[in-house]
Amino acid sequence: MRITLKVLMLGDFAVGKTSLVQRYVEHHFSSSYLRTIGVDIYTKEVIRNEGKDQYLFQIWDLSGDEEFRFFRHDLYRGALGGILAADLTRKETMRSLPKWIDECEKHAISNFRIVFAGNKLDLLNNDMTHPNIKFFMDITESWDYDKFLVSAKTGFGVDKLFLTLFEHVINI
Ligand code: GDP
Ligand code: MG
Repeated sequence: MRITLKVLMLGDFAVGKTSLVQRYVEHHFSSSYLRTIGVDIYTKEVIRNEGKDQYLFQIWDLSGDEEFRFFRHDLYRGALGGILAADLTRKETMRSLPKWIDECEKHAISNFRIVFAGNKLDLLNNDMTHPNIKFFMDITESWDYDKFLVSAKTGFGVDKLFLTLFEHVINI
C-alpha cells in the first residue's frame, strides 16, 4: 500500500520556496510535476523498509502568481506539515515567521509539523558568523521545531531539510 503524505511550502514571497522544492525533487528519479491553478504539486516516492513501505511525498507549493493567495487557507486541508522558509538576506522575511505560525495554528491540524528553513545561505558566503544567522536562530528559538540553514542554489542542506519533515509527518 502506498501512503500519501501532503506537506506545504510556506513563507513570504521570493524566499525560495519553489527553488527549494525543485532542488529536492529534481534530484531524484521518481519525481513528477503537476501544474494546477494557483498551486504546483510536486510528488516524490519514498521507499522504506526494503520496499515494503511506499510513500508518496506530496509537496504543495503556491505558484508564483500569488494572486491566488485568497485560497491559501484551503491548502491546509489534509496537510500534515510544512517547510516554513525565510530568506537569510532579508530580515523582514524572518520577522514574518510568527505570522505564518499563527496561520498554521488557525488553519492546520493541531499536530501540524513545521521545519524552518533559512534559505540563500550562499548569499552570506556560507558565513556562519554572519549576524543574519544569529537573527534567524534567535527568532526561531521560541518554537521547538527543527531548523536548517540551506541553499537552494548550491543544494546545501536541502535533502536533509525535506527528509526531516518527512520523518516528522510519517509518524502522525
Ligand atoms: P518563492 O516565491 O518563495 O517560491 O521564491 P523562488 O523560489 O521563486 O525564488 C525567488 C528568487 O530567489 C529567485 O530569483 C531564485 O532564483 C532566488 N533564490 C532562491 N533560492 C536561492 C538560493 O538559495 N540562493 C540564491 N542565491 N538565490 C536563490
Ligand atoms: Mg514560488
